[in-house]
Parts: sequence; C-alpha cells; structure tokens
Amino acid sequence: MFHLKKPRQTDAQSTDAQATVTDTVKTVIADIENRGDAALRDYSVKFDSYSPESFRLSESEIQEIISGVDPQTLEDIQTVQRNVERFAKLQRDSITDFESEVEPGVFLGQKNIPVGAVGAYVPGGRYPLLASAHMTIVTAKVAGVQRVIAATPAPNGEIPAASVAAIHYAGADEIYLLGGVQAIAALAVGTETIDPVDVIAGPGNAFVAEAKRQLFGRVGIDLFAGPTEVLIIGDDSTDPFLAAVDLLSQAEHGPDSPAVYVTTSQANAAAVIDQVERQLEVLPTREIAGKAWETVGEVIVADNLEEAFRISDEYASEHVQVLTAEPRLALEQLQNYGALFLGDRTCVSYGDKVIGTNHVLPTMRAARYTGGLWVGKYLKTVTYQEVRTDEASAALGALLGRAARAERFEGHARSGDIRAARFTGEWPAW
Ligand code: NAD
Repeated sequence: MFHLKKPRQTDAQSTDAQATVTDTVKTVIADIENRGDAALRDYSVKFDSYSPESFRLSESEIQEIISGVDPQTLEDIQTVQRNVERFAKLQRDSITDFESEVEPGVFLGQKNIPVGAVGAYVPGGRYPLLASAHMTIVTAKVAGVQRVIAATPAPNGEIPAASVAAIHYAGADEIYLLGGVQAIAALAVGTETIDPVDVIAGPGNAFVAEAKRQLFGRVGIDLFAGPTEVLIIGDDSTDPFLAAVDLLSQAEHGPDSPAVYVTTSQANAAAVIDQVERQLEVLPTREIAGKAWETVGEVIVADNLEEAFRISDEYASEHVQVLTAEPRLALEQLQNYGALFLGDRTCVSYGDKVIGTNHVLPTMRAARYTGGLWVGKYLKTVTYQEVRTDEASAALGALLGRAARAERFEGHARSGDIRAARFTGEWPAW
C-alpha cells in the first residue's frame, strides 16, 4: 500500500489541539459544579453569545417557534422519525428478557430496564443538526425512558427552529437552548434549575465529546461520538465522481472530519483526487470541506481488496462505505466500523439523515469496541436469581462454603453453611 494523498496535520498538532480542549472542558465542568446556573449563563454568553431570560423553552414558545417552520420540513421530520422509530423497534424486539431453570430448583433470569432520565444533545454550532434529535430522543422513547431532556445551542441567539420542532416531535419532555460543554455539564451534574440525568447521549464537536468523556462515571454516556469520519473503499469499477461527492458530504461536517479513500486501483485513486478538487471549487461549503480535505483527508492505494479491508479495520472509521464491484464481501469480512454502507445505491448521508439506522456513531477508533447508539444503550441489562428448593440451596451452600474459604472469605462461607445446614441438619462447627 502507499499514500497518493497524505493528511497534512501531524500527530503532534492534533495532540496539542486535544490538550487545549481537555483543559477548557475541565475548567467549565468545575465551574458549573461550583456556581450552577450563574456559571451556565456566563459560558453561554462566552461561547454562544446567548443569554435569554430562561434557557428552558415553555410550551407556548415551542409552539410559536414551530409555527415558523415550513410545512414540508415539518412533514419530512415526521417521516424520518417514523423511519428511525421503525428500526429502533426492531432492535427493541431483538432484546429479550428471560428466566431459565438452569438446574432443578435454580432459576436465573435477565431483565432489561430503561434508565430513568436521558439528556439528549442536538448539535448546532455549525449546522442545526436536527437529525440528531430523531436519533437520540425517538430511540430513548422506544427504549421506554420516562424523562428525556434535550439541549441544543442557539449561537448568537439564533433559535434553531427546525431543531426545536424535531426535538418536540421526537417526544422530549424538556427543551433547553444550551450548547457545548456547558450544556453537557449542566445535564450531568444538575444546577438549581436543571435536574441531572442518568445518561447523556448524542454527538457533538471535540468539546462536547471530551465533556462526555470527563463526566463518564458520574453519568452514563452512550458512546464517544465526536467529529464525523468517513472511509470509502473502492476499486477500478468505482465511479470517481460518486466517490468524491460522498467523501465531501462528510468532510463538510467540520475541518477536523477525516475523509479517507482506500482503493485497489492507482488510476481510480488519481481520478477521485481530481474529482474532489473539481467539486470543491463549486461546493457552497468548500471553506470547511476543503480545509478538512487538505488537513485530514487521505487517499490510499492498496495492493488488493484484502489489504483494503485490513486498512479499513485498522482505521475503525465511524462510517465505512463500500463502492466496489462486490460490496457484500465487506459485510462478511470487515470487523471495525460504526455503520456500513453497501453499494452505490446508498450513501452515508442516507444513514445520517433519512433511512432509519442511527447516526450517532463511534469515532476516534472507538468502533474497535462499540457500535453506535441504539435502544440497548438506554437499557440496563440486569440479572436476578431465585432458588426454589431446599435441596438446590443445600448443594449451592456446600459449594459456596468451599469456594469462599478458598478466598479466605469466612463471612461469605457462612452464608452457604447456614443454608446447607437447613437441609442436611448438620450444623457447622462455628
Ligand atoms: P456542537 O453543538 O457540537 O458544538 C457547538 C458548541 O461548542 C457551541 O454551542 C459552543 O458552546 C461550543 N464551543 C465552540 N467553540 C468552543 C470553544 N473554543 N471553547 C469551548 N466551547 C466551544 O456543534 P458543531 O461545532 O457544529 O459540531 C457538531 C459536531 O458533531 C461535528 O463535529 C460533527 O462532525 C459531529 N457529529 C458527529 C456524529 C457522530 O455520531 N459521531 C454525528 C453527527 C455529527
């Protein structure tokens, strides 16, 4: 393999940038913990130039905002939410509670209990990412979460009307116009006016992703879903025009969004680079997409398809799109991706915006150990047990006595002894 286009940003540069993000996030979280609503307001002014009387929208404000959104957008929001709900329900049905008699008299079971409260973050710094409302809120409601509160920024006081509509239609119980670290911190630790939640979900920029990382433990998080990434796999059959369109569709998310193209054909690689450059000249979001392509964009020529798949698994990209002659081979062979897009009749943007699979997906190689947001992220899979006969309890009690003493846990051992004694009538020496 070799690079026909390398990323310009060095690892040292990205480490410096991450260190700045980490420090800022730490300071904001600590301040919101100490000063609550007053700090929340200060940071909203500092980072979003926004300081309304109340960050929480009232029911009448919500209705007034929605009345300003054009009817086609409102209809589309509802159509997409039905698609997201349909897929989330299929996932919900795939999760089972069970109880099994594993030995005579011994019953073990598993239940899935929804978390009590979710904080859903809907990004809105650069674009009003209303699709994130469908992904986080509809899915939480399908999982059975009782209280879902949503936050989305209003940069410079610009109310993201379509996002508010999507959040409301998705079923959020409270809506706050708050963004970035201050929103995540307030949802996680609570303030005088915001009750804290149990899980924070949703994508966001590097600050949002880092805030979730630092708060994890005090609050649950869905996953590490930072700046978007795409990796497209091609070969000599891939249409360079289409590949370039799809690479740029993700690069426009932000200057830190890597678009990586891996192909088995050098001629195809060169044609894709040429297409990206041509299309950038006329793309309205070229300022962002062009910077992303220049800084973190990559084009790699692999020796063969097996190597292309190995490279893809090594990158563990959030989105992997397969534009080769036989795309379903990737379904059999790839191991590490947030979501997979097979063939040229679909694309990452279908998943991002309309088709119904969830777009909150792992970034920064987190796809090595997790998939994306789904109903299961809002459920606690818990277990229970019941022993219904004296004989079964006595047998387990004798086993426990020996097992616990092997660890020198005398107290544990006695819990077993006492039950074994009940059935056998032989009381232990202690
Ligand atoms: P955002 O809502 O995530 O962040 C905007 C907020 O960041 C602002 O409200 C502000 O409070 C804060 N902020 C901005 N600059 C700051 C600074 N210097 N210091 C402290 N706080 C600062 O919106 P965005 O910036 O447009 O980013 C959205 C992100 O979501 C993109 O990176 C996109 O790629 C990503 N995304 C990821 C996924 C996924 O599943 N991984 C899905 C969709 C979108």
